[in-house]
Amino acid sequence: MSCLFCKIARAEIETALLYENEHVVAFRDIHPQAPQHILIIPRRHIATLNELDADSAYLVGEMLLAAKKLAAQMGFAEEGFRTVMNCNDDGGQTVYHLHLHLLGGRRMGWPPG
Ligand code: AMP
Ligand code: ZN
Repeated sequence: MSCLFCKIARAEIETALLYENEHVVAFRDIHPQAPQHILIIPRRHIATLNELDADSAYLVGEMLLAAKKLAAQMGFAEEGFRTVMNCNDDGGQTVYHLHLHLLGGRRMGWPPG
C-alpha cells in the first residue's frame, strides 16, 4: 500500500521519531502551524476517523496518551496545547492515514478556521 504515513511507521522513509511504542509513532509535522507541531499516528493503517471501530478504538487512546507524554516531555503541558484530528474534505484532511496533531508553544485561537 502506497501510504506516506505507513512508510514512515515502517521506517521506509527516514524520519526522526520523537516517540514510538508498539502501537503509535510520533514525528514533527513538515509544515508546522505552531512552535511545536507533532503528528501521532497508529502503526496500523486506518484511513480516517470514519473507519475507526470497536476493535481499533483503543488506538485513539494510545495516540492521546502519547500526546500527553510528549507535551510533558517537551515542556508545554502546563501552558497548554491542542490536539486535532481532521476527517475527510470538510475537516481538512490531506493525508489518509489517521493522525493526531499535537500543537503547542503558542496561544491557540477559537473557533478554528
Ligand atoms: P491533515 O491535513 O490533517 O491530513 O494533516 C496532514 C499533515 O501531514 C499536514 O500538517 C502536513 O504538513 C503533514 N505532512 C505531510 N507530509 C509529511 C511528511 N513527510 N512528514 C511530516 N509531516 C508531513
Ligand atoms: Zn497508512
